[in-house]
Amino acid sequence: MMKKIDGIKMTPQRMAILDFLEGNTNHPSVSDIYSAVSNRFPTISVATVYSTVEMLKSKGYINELNIDRERMRVDPNVRPHNHIICIYCKKIIDIEEEIHIQLSDKQLYGFNIIEKRIEFYGICPDCKKKRQGTL
Ligand SMILES: [Zn+2]
Ligand SMILES: [Zn+2]
Repeated sequence: MMKKIDGIKMTPQRMAILDFLEGNTNHPSVSDIYSAVSNRFPTISVATVYSTVEMLKSKGYINELNIDRERMRVDPNVRPHNHIICIYCKKIIDIEEEIHIQLSDKQLYGFNIIEKRIEFYGICPDCKKKRQGTL
């Protein structure tokens, strides 16, 4: 991992956040990142995590996801992809397959489309098992 991002000095705390996020497919929230990094850096503040996430977002290293309606989630995978979220445990998983939807110009009200997102909401196998008989 790089020690500097576009001239921004990476403190050990920021590096730890970056290390935690690199290759992370769990779509962590700010508080998940804070819990993970504060093990190594007990003095780190939630504000530092927030500002680092904001910085990484503005530099295009991570995406912010709004699929979890309760809290912002962070995605270090910035390639275009879609997500499925469990409505109970809020686990978010990447859908690797491309989803093709063809709409005519008229159906899109003449908009130039620059980005498409498809979000799936469901109940994951773990929660299905736990809730068997209660649904
Ligand atoms: Zn679940
Ligand atoms: Zn993702």
